[in-house]
Amino acid sequence: MGRRLGVMGGTFDPIHYGHLVTAEEALVQFALDSVLFVPTGQPWMKEGREVSPAEHRYLMTVIATASNPRFSVSRMEVDRQGPTYTVETLQALAEENPDAELYFITGADAMLEILHWKDPEEVLSLAHFIAATRPGYDLAHFEAEAASHHPKVSVMTIPALAISSTDIRQRVKEGRAIRYLVPEGVKSYIEKVGLYRLRRVGAVGSPGPAGTGAGERGSRGGSASPSGSRSSSAEVSGSDRCSPVAAPPRRPRPRAAPPPPVWSCST
Ligand code: ATP
Ligand code: MG
Repeated sequence: MGRRLGVMGGTFDPIHYGHLVTAEEALVQFALDSVLFVPTGQPWMKEGREVSPAEHRYLMTVIATASNPRFSVSRMEVDRQGPTYTVETLQALAEENPDAELYFITGADAMLEILHWKDPEEVLSLAHFIAATRPGYDLAHFEAEAASHHPKVSVMTIPALAISSTDIRQRVKEGRAIRYLVPEGVKSYIEKVGLYRLRRVGAVGSPGPAGTGAGERGSRGGSASPSGSRSSSAEVSGSDRCSPVAAPPRRPRPRAAPPPPVWSCST
């Protein structure tokens, strides 16, 4: 019998413990040899919002899975231009791993969508599908709709982890805690890069608002003073909500101190 390779696709914006528990449960319940995480590519909108750059999502997935010898991460979709489709990814993985049986791991909701595609048989011919039931999901509804008609679809119940990337992004934006919802390294990465909270406001050289530059958004963290080490708006720290957005042009003004950079704060 060939290798049993799990494939876990997702936006992973960011990856969280719900994803990791799902992959681990699939590994154990379906006796898989390994699970390959496949973050989706760029650029596209998801449910009307902008998705974080693929490189950040890829790196967070690497960080989150690094400690598990049976988990690995693929750049396949990240490196591909334009939108990617599950069927293409599975075809490529089948070619790359001719000795392996593929098990595509997905949420039951996403599985129902796949089964409603124009040609579900094509995608089902490429892999087994493991549909994880997410917290609060109506399993009876799923089984009635799908599983009984498709022998290659299995339902897997997982410990209820009511975590979503949407909620994590919202928490970061509001300055609320995400510890224990994502691995510690992912939390550190989000803070270091300033994901989900800091926006670059205006290009360097464009005039910022007068005064503090914070405007009505300056109430939280607006008192942070710019340090000499912060010289670029691209290199922002996640420790506060402020970033230098533009310094007024320096004119030769003898005896006058150079003007401070203008800071702007996101909410
Ligand atoms: P978003 O809120 O941005 O939609 P998400 O948390 O749903 O993000 P995705 O990257 O969209 O995460 O999901 C990847 C896969 O993981 C999907 O198949 C999804 O159904 C599944 N999944 C997401 N969250 C959980 C969870 N808490 N438990 C089990 N499976 C999950
Ligand atoms: Mg989702």
